[in-house]
Amino acid sequence: MPVKAKKETLGFQTEAKQLLHLMIHSLYSNKEIFLRELISNAADAIDKLRFEGLARPELIGEDNDFKIRIDIDKDAKTISISDNGVGMSREEVIVQLGTIAKSGTAQFLDSLTGDQKKDAQLIGQFGVGFYSSFIVSDKVTVESRAAGLDASDAVRWVSVGEAEFEVENIEKAERGTSVILRLKGDADEFLDSWRLKNIVKKYADHVSVPVVMKKESIGVDDDGDKKKKEEDEVVNTAKALWSRSRSEIKDDEYKEFYKHISHDFLDPMTWSHNKVEGKLDYTSLIYIPAKAPFDLLQREAPRGLKLYVQRVFIMDEAEQFLPLYLRFVKGVVDSNDLSLNISRELLQKDPAIESMRNALTKRALDLLEKLAKKDAEKYQEFWDEFGQVLKEGPAEDFNNKEKISKLLRFATTNSDSNTQSQSLTNYVSRMKDGQDKIYYVVAENFHTANNSPLLEVFKKKGIEVLVLFDRIDEWLMSHLMEFDGKQFQDVAKGSLDLGDLEDKAEKEEKTKVEKQFKDLVKRITDLLGEKVEEVRITHRLTDSPACLVVNEDEMGMQMRRILESAGQPIPGGKRTFEINPEHPLLAKLNDEADVDRFNDLTMVIYDQAMLAEGGQLEEPASYVKRLNKLLLELSA
Ligand code: ADP
Ligand code: MG
Repeated sequence: MPVKAKKETLGFQTEAKQLLHLMIHSLYSNKEIFLRELISNAADAIDKLRFEGLARPELIGEDNDFKIRIDIDKDAKTISISDNGVGMSREEVIVQLGTIAKSGTAQFLDSLTGDQKKDAQLIGQFGVGFYSSFIVSDKVTVESRAAGLDASDAVRWVSVGEAEFEVENIEKAERGTSVILRLKGDADEFLDSWRLKNIVKKYADHVSVPVVMKKESIGVDDDGDKKKKEEDEVVNTAKALWSRSRSEIKDDEYKEFYKHISHDFLDPMTWSHNKVEGKLDYTSLIYIPAKAPFDLLQREAPRGLKLYVQRVFIMDEAEQFLPLYLRFVKGVVDSNDLSLNISRELLQKDPAIESMRNALTKRALDLLEKLAKKDAEKYQEFWDEFGQVLKEGPAEDFNNKEKISKLLRFATTNSDSNTQSQSLTNYVSRMKDGQDKIYYVVAENFHTANNSPLLEVFKKKGIEVLVLFDRIDEWLMSHLMEFDGKQFQDVAKGSLDLGDLEDKAEKEEKTKVEKQFKDLVKRITDLLGEKVEEVRITHRLTDSPACLVVNEDEMGMQMRRILESAGQPIPGGKRTFEINPEHPLLAKLNDEADVDRFNDLTMVIYDQAMLAEGGQLEEPASYVKRLNKLLLELSA
C-alpha cells in the first residue's frame, strides 16, 4: 500500500477541539441548523468549481449537472448530504476539517462566558459551520474526491467528535463530497423525509443549486400491480435569490439568504435589494447585520460583498464595492458588465467598479437614513453596534460627509447619560437664540467629559454641549468642521467667545475684572514660566478656580494623549492657564503677600486644573506635599 493511502489518526487543533465541544453542548436547542450549514458548504463547493471551471473546463467535464443530494437510510440511521462540487484532497480534508483558520478564534473562545444561552448566540455570530454536524450525530464520515483527481485519490475522514479523526484513501466514482451523519438517538426526527424537506425549504430555498431528495409514491408495475416507486424531486426553488423580483421574495427568504452569505446566526437588521439598468447593469442586495462581529474595529479584517458575474460566483469579500467605514455591510453584487475572468487586481482598476462603489455607498447610507427615520429605536441599536466605525466616515469619504453627519449620534450635556442618541439635527434645533456654534467637549470617558470645568459657563447659560469620549472622536471632529452652516467649537480650545450669547453688561463687567486682576496674572505668569503658553482671566468657569485650554490651531489634548501613548512624540502642546476671578481661592491668591504660600497655592490650583480634565501630573509627589502643607496651615 502506498504511504499516502495509509490510514492515520490525527488530533484536532486545540481551538477546533474547543469549538467542536461547544457546538455539541450549546446548540442542541436549535439542532436543525446543521442542515443549513452542510447545504451551504455544498453550494459553496459547487460555486467554487464553477468558477475554477471558467479557466479549466476539464475540471468539470461531463459531470456538469450540478446538484446537492440528500439521502436517508432509516435502517442505518444515517442521512447523507452529497454534492458534485470542487471536493477536497487528503491534505485539504485534514486542514479544512481539522483546524480553524479564522482570525480572532482564540479571542472569541476567551469571550465565552459559560452561560449557555449567551454562548450559543456568540457561537452563532462566529459561524457554526461544519462542526454543527456533531449537534445531531455521534459519528460523521466525509468522503471526498477533489476535482481533477483520480477515483483512487479520494479520501475518507471519520470522527466521533472527540479529540481525533481518522483519514484514509478510498475509491470514489464521482467527483465531490458526501457528508454522512450517523444520527444520535435524540435526533432521529431527521430520518423523516417530510421533516427534512421542510427544513431544506426553510433554509435553502434561495440556494441557486437544486437540492434533490427521493420522493416515494405509489406506481403501477408492468404486471399491473401497485408498487412503491421512488423518484427524484427537487425540493428548493433553486434560483439565485437576488435575481428574483423583489415583490415575490418573502422577508423570511431575505433573512435566510443573509444567514447563508454572512454565516451569521441572527436575523439582519435591515436590507436593500436593487436592480440597476442603464449604463451599468447590476443587481445588489445589501444587509445591515444586527450585531457587530468580533473584529469590527480591526481595519484589516476580511470584509466586502460576494461578487457574482452573470449569476456565476466569482469571489468572496470583494472589498472594492464599499468604503472601509461601511465594512460591516454584508451582501452580494451581481454584475452583467464585468468579465468572468475578473481578478482582485483587475477589480481595482476597472472604472465601472468606481461608479458601482459610489452608488452602493449611497445606497447603504440611504438605507441607514431610512432606518433612522422609520425606527429610531432600531437605529439606536445599530448605532450602539456600529457607530464607532461609521465615525470613520467623514475622514474617509469627503463627498458623503453631509450624509454621514446626519447619521451620527452623540451624548450631550442634556442627557446626563453616556448613551449616544442625539443627532446633530436635534442639537441644532435646540440651539439658543444667538448661538452660532456647535460646542463639544472631549475627554477620555463620559464622566470626565461631562464634569469638565470647561462646561461650567455652558451649564449656567443652559447651552447644550456634545460630550465626546470615544477614542476616534477628536479625529472625527477634526474632519467635520461644520454642520448645517454651523461651525464646531471645542470648548477646550481658544479663548471662549460666546458672541451674541453674552449681553453688554457682561462684556463691560469682564473688561473691569481683567484690569483688577492684571497684577495677579503677571505674578502667576512669572511663577509658571515655561510651563504654560499664557495666563489669562476667564469667564467660562463658575465653580472651578482654573482650567487649561489649548490654542485654536493646536491639536486637542485627547488626540495628543492617544498619539503619545502610541509612542509618537508631538511637538508643541503648551497650554494657556485660565483663572476664574470669581472664585474665592483667586481672591485669596490676589491678597497673598507670603511668597511661599502664594507659590504653593498657585501650583496646587494649576495641578488641579490638570487633574480635573483627566490629565496626569508631571510631579504628583510635589502636588501631594504642597497640598498637605496647606492643609496643615489650615488646621494650625
Ligand atoms: P466555512 O464554510 O465558513 O468556511 P465550515 O466549517 O462550514 O466553514 O467549513 C470548513 C471548510 O471545509 C470550508 O471552508 C471548505 O474548505 C471545507 N468544506 C466543507 N464542506 C465542503 C464540501 N462539501 N465540499 C468542499 N469543501 C468543503
Ligand atoms: Mg460553511
